[in-house]
Amino acid sequence: MVSESTADLIRFENTIGGQPAGAAGSWFTTVDPNTGQPWAQIPKCGPNDVNAAVEAARNAFYDPAWRDITATARGQLLNRLADIIAEEAERLIALEVRDNGKLIQEVRGQLNYIPQWFRYFGGLADKIQGDVLPIDKPGMHAHTCREPLGVVACITPWNSPLMLLTWKLAPALAAGNTCVVKPSEHTSASTLAFLALFEKAGFPPGVVNSVTGFPAEVGEPLVRHPDVRKVAFTGGDAGGLSVYRSAAEGLKPVTLELGGKSPNIIFEDANLENAVNGAISGIFAATGQTCIAGSRLLVQRSVHDQVVERLVELAKTAIMGDPKRADTQVGPVTTQPQLQRILDYIQIARDEGAQCVLGGGVPDASTLGGGWFVEPTVLTGVNNQMRIAREEVFGPVLAVIPFDDEAEALSIANDSPYGLAAGVWTSDIGRSLRMSNRLEAGTVWINCYRAASFLAPFGGYKSSGIGRENGQEAIDAYLQTKTVWIDTTGKVANPFVMR
Ligand code: NAD
Repeated sequence: MVSESTADLIRFENTIGGQPAGAAGSWFTTVDPNTGQPWAQIPKCGPNDVNAAVEAARNAFYDPAWRDITATARGQLLNRLADIIAEEAERLIALEVRDNGKLIQEVRGQLNYIPQWFRYFGGLADKIQGDVLPIDKPGMHAHTCREPLGVVACITPWNSPLMLLTWKLAPALAAGNTCVVKPSEHTSASTLAFLALFEKAGFPPGVVNSVTGFPAEVGEPLVRHPDVRKVAFTGGDAGGLSVYRSAAEGLKPVTLELGGKSPNIIFEDANLENAVNGAISGIFAATGQTCIAGSRLLVQRSVHDQVVERLVELAKTAIMGDPKRADTQVGPVTTQPQLQRILDYIQIARDEGAQCVLGGGVPDASTLGGGWFVEPTVLTGVNNQMRIAREEVFGPVLAVIPFDDEAEALSIANDSPYGLAAGVWTSDIGRSLRMSNRLEAGTVWINCYRAASFLAPFGGYKSSGIGRENGQEAIDAYLQTKTVWIDTTGKVANPFVMR
């Protein structure tokens, strides 16, 4: 039950041009998923706020205070920011857990790791360089420079707000761009507190700005704004497609990190104890609300029953409850509509003939905070054509699919519109290489699941996205190349002949 009273709610503000900005007195509430109660108010922005934020970012891009600082100084700012994030981590963790319902142990792990992204890309800032070309024209010099694009729109989802924002901001700023951030309308609070740290680190006003609110009033006008030169988006398929279309009309480059239906594949020769743990980590960690969820568990038929039995036994012991408690293993889902969507998918799977061997419903609420909880759910008897095997649920729902041999495992794994990630559990090194070579996925984990790093490119094949975040190549998505030609002869060339 959502209370109508807004008297005791904490108010957060955007930052536009270095000033707090509250969207002309209009607010919406954000809700604690553990209790289902509103706890904070967020500015409800509209197109005018978008215009103001983009103008501030554009002005900052051309301001010598940002444009003319050395790349080394830019890197130092990012390193200073990393220090401040580390100092403020506990406050940010508390905000994100409350707003998002993510487990405190998961958010703490992310917040302790986020500074490394700013240090890594801060270190790359002064390694961005062009080339002097061994040009084939006599009397000419030619070199290239790599330059920032301008204003970048960074649009993030609700499931890991600060981590996924960091994946965009760190390379975008290291490359010398300025940014307008639009966090999810469900989880804006931690982002707004996070962005307030940038000025403290010494970034000039307007280098990082934010606008909060809903896709139609904020997200779409931001993507379409003529002064936005690049869009970095993480979110669902529908939003991603819409962003891609709008960006195309303005010929803007995009990075799209979208959904997944990742296969986690257990062969009979695997260490089954590890594999079952990996299956649990793949789907029940983060309450399944992760793009890389290993939501299709492919199990070789000879060990299928044994794996399912052990999986159910272990998953039953998972401690569900308050995400603020360090021992909680499964927290709430982030929004009420998301809870309903998960329950609907479980019903669809049942209607299509799957058997629910664990969970399948809403747990007894008396021991929980009153928020949006769903039981860890295991479905067997699934085939790869069922909706539960093809569509992203984004919740703690595992579809188990049997296979007979390597060829069949590969064929089922790749028969998906998505291609974000895959896991393979085997003790055969040759098989691990054959599988990783042939799996159509941007990330393949062998005998592990859910590992990510600032050093490791991340992104999707097929409908899971366009482009890569993290690793050295991520910075290329925020740069453009200029070629400079200089005539060294001082002679006037024949104007009718191309040189
Ligand atoms: P969403 O697409 O509903 O929203 C994401 C963000 O985009 C929000 O800020 C939203 O307001 C904005 N938005 C939505 N439609 C828009 C539009 N037409 N124009 C501009 N902005 C728009 O996604 P969500 O429900 O917040 O997040 C869950 C989804 O994100 C899942 O599908 C998940 O797989 C995906 N995800 C992907 C990755 C990845 O790296 N591949 C990581 C995390 C989440």
